[in-house]
Formats: sequence, structure tokens, C-alpha cells
Amino acid sequence: MALKKDSNALDNKQEKSQNEDTPLLELTNLEKKKEIESQPLELSKGNDNENGFLEFGFNQSILNSLRNKGYKNPTPIQKAAIPELMLGRDLLGQAQTGTGKTAAFALPLIEKLSDNNELNAKVLVMTPTRELATQVAESFKSYSSESSNFKTVAIYGGTDYRNQISALKRKVDVVVGTPGRIMDHIRQGTFKIKDINCLVLDEADEMLNMGFLEDIEWIIDQLPENKQMVLFSATMPSEIRNIAKKYLNDPAEILIKSVKKETQLISQKFLYVQRHHKLDALKRILEINNEGVIIFVRTKLLTNSIAEALENSGHTVAVLNGDIPQNQRENTVDRLKKGFINILVATDVAARGLDVERIKLVVNYDFPFDKETYTHRIGRTGRAGRSGEAILFVNQREKHFLRNLENSTRTKIEEINIPSNKIINEKRMEKLIENVSESSLAKDENEENKALIVDVLDSLKEKYSMDDSNIAMAAINLVIGNKSFFVDEDDSWIHKQNNTDRNRSNRNSNNRMRNSNRRNNYQNDSFETYKFNFGKFDGIRVANIISSICNSTNINGRSIGKIQIFNDYSLVDLPRDLHKETKNKLKKIKVRN
Ligand code: AMP
Repeated sequence: MALKKDSNALDNKQEKSQNEDTPLLELTNLEKKKEIESQPLELSKGNDNENGFLEFGFNQSILNSLRNKGYKNPTPIQKAAIPELMLGRDLLGQAQTGTGKTAAFALPLIEKLSDNNELNAKVLVMTPTRELATQVAESFKSYSSESSNFKTVAIYGGTDYRNQISALKRKVDVVVGTPGRIMDHIRQGTFKIKDINCLVLDEADEMLNMGFLEDIEWIIDQLPENKQMVLFSATMPSEIRNIAKKYLNDPAEILIKSVKKETQLISQKFLYVQRHHKLDALKRILEINNEGVIIFVRTKLLTNSIAEALENSGHTVAVLNGDIPQNQRENTVDRLKKGFINILVATDVAARGLDVERIKLVVNYDFPFDKETYTHRIGRTGRAGRSGEAILFVNQREKHFLRNLENSTRTKIEEINIPSNKIINEKRMEKLIENVSESSLAKDENEENKALIVDVLDSLKEKYSMDDSNIAMAAINLVIGNKSFFVDEDDSWIHKQNNTDRNRSNRNSNNRMRNSNRRNNYQNDSFETYKFNFGKFDGIRVANIISSICNSTNINGRSIGKIQIFNDYSLVDLPRDLHKETKNKLKKIKVRN
């Protein structure tokens, strides 16, 4: 297919249907649907001598593995879903990650398969990304760790087929995978699906966003007709309700009203920053908080350049993007968990489902594309009942996106300033004092070191005639090192910017015309419009274009801008800084063959 760049970047509004807040009523009557308030997960840990999981009648192996994991009580979604799934009912659940939804479907499925000795898989779980597939498979493995002969296999793209094929040849109970790779294995006959009696669609809305609808339907059509169906989605746009209507049979419905609860532990902030000052602003933010940070950016290219810049400033940083091989990603997440890395620079898809408790700060370096992306990003902090902070970078042109975001999440995002030299220097001073006072405590704990220190002190006093205060000063000097301790870079831009932004913000609040111009400018800056020579006459739909672009390149569905389909051509807004190789791949993409 010929490809040409079109200079007309157009007013952007992605044609993907959102409608996420529509309630489930169309499918059900009110009595049938369970609406449940989520609660912080730490409450589910409960007292030592109680076990809220006993009521479900799980076998001892499952209870043992739950005890090993420290789970004492089921979360609200587990309380509601487990009895229904144990009865073999279909289930439609609206719940986000962080609510315990994985265990909600995994535990009853493991229980039902506890005596399974057959070779072919019985359960298929479909997830939008390889990260989530790995995570869900890991959950199945840990919940079944005490159940002998229970096997879970993960199959996802970006890794070699051979290991997956040989795992699928052996006895398997549960297969967890991404749609593309599942299709490949079904087509090649390496994944035998004739005995599948339960299908779970996890994060179904995300799969749709990524253009997987046709693939999902294809897979469902291949599976045996008689099966239990479980569908979990964070939001309920009309496409999801349609899938539910089409494939689920009298499902139990559960709505976990968790968004507010989940995010309320996270303090949400924004700061105004012009594009050319973003990196500097980021470094200043990291002066205040740099242990357990995720920085979200829009492109892979940016993940690398920002990580490099931060590394040069002395931070321990890693990158998580679609180009990083799977095993390396797992290793990175592990190192982040263990504290060998403090800062992760990531793209949205790569960080989906990431569950690391020590994340204290999420920086939205690039503005998220929609409310779901924002909620997902900030949900990487405030895990397991801990508090966290999220900071959103906003430039002049993104101000109206900020207002939309506040409206759609019904949250007031508090404005903060970029830390000035004065604030940073105060913080450095505070940290130095803290470090010195902490190390005086630590010293008491190690007798050997204590003896060494006493020896050093004695010889400083005897040989060099130093008194206590001289020695203390010299020691602190040693901690500070040779570099100048205080920042003295020109920070006048911060003060200027804060004033200008506030003035502009006031001037513009009554001026809708200007806002809409700004939106156009914003789009011009971030996207380029590409022209493809297929259109309505070829029977093309928006979903076809998204899925072809996502499947043929590394571009993720969320970063695709406006799509316009005309009779014999289509215009698609794509991120401005695409790699040459990606552009070449775009030239060759096929839509519906
Ligand atoms: P999920 O929503 O499935 O991504 O789960 C979020 C986190 O909650 C994971 O770290 C789980 O290990 C944890 N979790 C799930 N169920 C429980 C429970 N009943 N008690 C304590 N933690 C749980």
C-alpha cells in the first residue's frame, strides 16, 4: 500500500467509541447486579488467626498457597465472584487491577481443575499485553504452587515459539496468552483447544483499544461452544456490552466501584512546564523524590534519551518499552522491586499491569491520551494500601486536556510549582542531616565497625590533634564530596513561567476560541498525518486500521490519533517521531488483505 505524508494535520478526536461510564443495566436487572465498594488491599490481610477463604470450600492445597502468600480475607470482588464461578456461571465483572480480580477468577478455576489429569488445556485466559499475560500466569502458578501436577503456560508474542510449543505439548491446565500468539498457535495446531471449557477475557476494554476485537471473535469461534465465559473490563463501553450480550449466558454481574477508592490514596498533582524545560523540571522533581519512581513517556525513543540523561545525573535508571526483550523486562521489574533500580522510564503498554509496591511517585512526563491511560498510570503507585504521589506535566497547549481529565475522573488535580533552587537546596540540606543522623544510629548496630571508628577517632585525636568538632566537620565534608553541594543553575525561568502561566490561565478561562486553536496546535506538534490508499470502498473500518498498524509495527493503539476514512483513502494521525524502520513497515501494511 502506498503511503504519503499529508501536511494537513486535522482537528483530532479519535473515532474510537468510549462511552465507558455507561452502566450495565442494559444487560441485567438491578437485583441481579452486585455493586460493591472496593477496599484497600491491606484490609484483606486480616488477623493471623482468621481465614476468610474457608467459606468457599477450597481444597487444602489452595488454602496452603493462600496462607503462603499472606492472604487472610478475600477482597470484595473475590467474595462476590468466587461463589458464582464455583457454580460454573458466566460472569461479567467491571473492575480494575489492584482489586484482586486475578485471584477472583484464578482460585475457583484451580479448584475445579484440582483432579484434572488430561493432557489438553481446559482454561484459556486472554490478556491484552504480554506483561499482563506473564503476571496472570504467575498468579495462577503461585495460587496452585501447593497443588501437585497443576500446569499453567503463558504464550505471548515477542518471544521464541519453541519453548511455548514444547510446554503446550506436555500436560497443561491453564493457558494464558495474548490474542495474536494464541491465534498463531491455534492455526499451527500447536495449541489444542478442543477441551477448553472456560474462557476468561481479562482487561477486555484494553484489548478493544488495541484493535483486537476481530481476533478475539475469531478465537471464540474456534473454541468449543459449551464453555464458561468470564469477562473482566475496567470500563464498559458499548463494544464490551455487545460482546457480553453475544457470548455470555445469563452472567452474574459485578461492578466494583473502585476507581475513587483506589486513587484516593494517591495525591494527584500537576505542574505547568514548557516543552523545552521538561527534562530540567523532571530532574528537579527527582531531587525531591527519587526512590521508586515511574516516568511515563509517549515513545520508545524518549524512554531511552530520558533514561540516559537521568543516568548522567547519577540516578539508577532502567527503561521499559516494547523493544526490550521479555526476559530483560522481567529482570528490570525484579530489580526495581529489589531496589537496585530506583527509576523506571516506561511507555504505557510496556508498564501495563506493573505491580511494584515501592513505587512512591508516578510522573506523567507526556500527557496521557485518555482517562483510562491516566488512571492506569497513576495506579502504579498507591499499591497494596500504601500512599503515593502522581505528577502530571502540562504545557500551555494541554491545559484544556487537563480540565477534561479533571472532569472525567471527577478529581481536582492540585497545581504545584517546579522546585526552585531554594527548595532543592533546602531538601539537599535536609537529606544530608537525615543521612548523618541515621548513620549515627546504624553505627551502634555493628560492633566491628564501632571498634574501627573508635580507633580512627583515637588516631585523629592523637596524631593530628583534632578535637570532636573538627573531626565531625571533616567527616561531613567527606560525605558531601568534591562537587558543589548546592544547585546554583539559573532558575529564573521557573519563576517567570509560573507567573506567565497563571496570567494566561486566567485570561483564557473565558476564551473558548483560543482553547480550540490551541488544541489544533497541540495536535500539529505531536502528530503527523499519514495518507493510506484504502478507504470506505474497500470496506475498511477504524478498528481494521488500528489493528493493522498495531500488528505490523510497534506503534501502540493508544498513540494513534485521529483516523478519518474517506471513499478511497484514509488519513491517520501518528506520533511525529516515528523510527525510520517503523515508517518503512507502515508503507507495507495491509488492511483486511
Ligand atoms: P490484581 O487486582 O489481581 O492485580 O491484584 C492486585 C494485588 O492484590 C496483587 O498484588 C495480589 O497479589 C494482591 N491480592 C489479591 N488478593 C488478595 C487478598 N485476598 N489479600 C491480599 N492481597 C491480595
